[in-house]
Amino acid sequence: MSQKSKSNQSNSPTPQIPVAPPWLRAVLIASMALAVIRLFGASAGEELSYSQFKRDIAAGKIERVVVSDSTVQGRYRASGVEGESPKIFSTARIPDDGLVEVLEANGVEFIGRNPSPLLTLVGWIAPVLIFVGAWFFIMKRFNPAQGGVMSLGKSKAKIVAEDQTGITFADVAGQEEAKDELTEIVKFLATPERYRALGGKLPRGALLVGPPGTGKTMLAKAVAGEAKVPFFSISGSEFVELFVGMGAARVRDLFSEAQKKAPCIVFIDELDALGKARGIGGMVGGHDERENTLNQLLVEMDGFDTTAGVVILAATNRPEVLDPALLRAGRFDRQVLVDRPDRIGREAILRVHSRGVKLAPDVDLGILAQRTPGFVGADLANIVNEAALLAARRDKADVSMADFDEAIDRVVAGLEKKNRLITPKEKRTVAVHELGHALVAAFTPGSDKVHKISIVPRGLAALGYTQQLPTEDRYLMTREELEAKVDVLLGGRAAEQVIFGEISTGAHNDLQRATEIVQSMVLEYGMGDTLGVLTYPKRRGAFLGDQLAGEGPRPYSEATAQALDEEMKKLMERRMDRVIRLIRRKRALLDSLAEVLLEKEVIEAAEFERLVEQHRDSAQDAA
Ligand code: ADP
Ligand code: ZN
Repeated sequence: MSQKSKSNQSNSPTPQIPVAPPWLRAVLIASMALAVIRLFGASAGEELSYSQFKRDIAAGKIERVVVSDSTVQGRYRASGVEGESPKIFSTARIPDDGLVEVLEANGVEFIGRNPSPLLTLVGWIAPVLIFVGAWFFIMKRFNPAQGGVMSLGKSKAKIVAEDQTGITFADVAGQEEAKDELTEIVKFLATPERYRALGGKLPRGALLVGPPGTGKTMLAKAVAGEAKVPFFSISGSEFVELFVGMGAARVRDLFSEAQKKAPCIVFIDELDALGKARGIGGMVGGHDERENTLNQLLVEMDGFDTTAGVVILAATNRPEVLDPALLRAGRFDRQVLVDRPDRIGREAILRVHSRGVKLAPDVDLGILAQRTPGFVGADLANIVNEAALLAARRDKADVSMADFDEAIDRVVAGLEKKNRLITPKEKRTVAVHELGHALVAAFTPGSDKVHKISIVPRGLAALGYTQQLPTEDRYLMTREELEAKVDVLLGGRAAEQVIFGEISTGAHNDLQRATEIVQSMVLEYGMGDTLGVLTYPKRRGAFLGDQLAGEGPRPYSEATAQALDEEMKKLMERRMDRVIRLIRRKRALLDSLAEVLLEKEVIEAAEFERLVEQHRDSAQDAA
């Protein structure tokens, strides 16, 4: 409570959200005023020719004139007719030195008038402001990242909740793990009183992490839908183009609305746009406002009353750029991975999206799932939609496999432009490589258990992965365990060599890590064969650090250095030898596992164990 009032205090100086920024309004009003004055001021009354004006003076018809820089305005003498007001006239001024004498001679009252200084000023400044305004307008137009000019109107929109999202977990397919992790939040939102009574720790926020189109927004909506609570949503990117003070004001608005509607969900999409670590890149000038907004978000997250039942979900595909402050305890301290779906997941997603589509009997969603590795939910939804459109265009009664094939081609063509998809040959290489790691792990005493093997593509860096879980936490490692680690790392490369007779670049990182372990073994742990239990400082090259520490050259001879190199090379060769022999022996198992992995894309621990068990031969395997 105390924190809450503190945040309110800091709020008060900030003005309410304006309709348009004040400077823009000033410019508009000033230029309109100017236009009115120019238009109507100059043409007040009857427009006379200058010669007519002179004649009228001479005829004594004119009573009074006002002479300014550019015009002469004036009034005729009263006509004498009852009820008729004196006529007004104006005429453009012509250089006429004798004018004053003529006016005096005819008894005309005359007044000189300088243009109002204010008007002059506006006359000068308004065009400049209009120009600057137009420039900003155009810049925003041409920078889509800034949300475009339409967001000018959007930003003033009131924050309103979606009372019922109508989306449930059943609509989100293939994200079972993520759903599991989110059920706790659903339970909490559905019955916050129960949690309060128990005094348990209440979830405050969770970060949904995953590539675009995997269903993060859907999941957030589904949490709200399952718990039957209102759903507020904003996007981090919509803050970027706001004017000073508005981002923070909007965050405040959002939270105060949310508190009123609690229990509810607040969803922040594209959190990275708003929560980038302070000091990381971005547009010039855009910084301060983003920072203000981010700070306000942190204040609100800390300040709000968790027992009320407001849960904040945020989505990002770049958790690594987020400001660490956002990830601290009590903020987004849990992360839920929303990854690209595997084959089964893709089939499920296709099923969900073809619910309302009339499918021909030849359509096999399982096969379609197989053909779409790396696709996310949004891509798959897109495929079903395209296929239905194609069928409709051909006046067909239902959507056939041929329509789906063409739809996939279209979507693939679109995706290939955006990011690289892997070819079937690459997929096979990745499968063999990962299974190499897994097999060596399974048949090497002292190595960690295989937890999961996956070849679902995830971005360009890692094409697949084999996850091992240590059976227990260990601080001391035996020689056997270190060697096992090296062997498992070499397994990927060895498998590629055995199966394809060539190796790909995928093994680069494995080799580097294996080399580091071997170096440590020989240099630091005294595990070499010939040099005994001496430790040798690892060579770091002639780096600044070494010189500053006054170490000078390495404290052993060139001969020793050579011996050490030799030792490491031999150790590495020995390990590689063993691994190659092991894989040759398990070739049949490797082949059959590869078929399974290519089909399912993921093999979990239990299934792996089961498949491997039949091939155990403990006497030989340890060799
Ligand atoms: P993200 O927020 O991760 O970018 P969205 O939740 O906006 O992705 O998903 C975009 C669209 O893709 C959804 O509206 C839905 O049609 C489809 N989609 C994505 N993932 C799934 C999924 N797991 N199950 C069903 N549909 C999905
Ligand atoms: Zn590898």
